[in-house]
Amino acid sequence: MPLACSRCELQRVINLETARKLGTAAGGLVGSLKGAYASLYSHSLSLNPSASFPISRVAAAVMAASTGGIAGAAAGHRMVQHLFPPGEGTPWLCLSCGHAFRVLD
Ligand SMILES: [Zn+2]
Repeated sequence: MPLACSRCELQRVINLETARKLGTAAGGLVGSLKGAYASLYSHSLSLNPSASFPISRVAAAVMAASTGGIAGAAAGHRMVQHLFPPGEGTPWLCLSCGHAFRVLD
């Protein structure tokens, strides 16, 4: 039997556990890309374009990417986490009315 919202009774609900996992993954990805891009871009602005690309700059970019990834993942995690209703059971979010509720398994 498909799950329905406990407030508006529509069946447009998503599992918040799944949303949190997706949000964490997406946040990490965005953070990584942003970190890598910002690092590479800021270096290319201050460098002579004909200069060779030192390996330390690649390392810096990788560092920035991993740091940004962790921060992004944490932000994504927090963003979904604050939607969670308190209590036990599987958390669900209604896409029609925005009501968050839990269903005991
Ligand atoms: Zn609803």
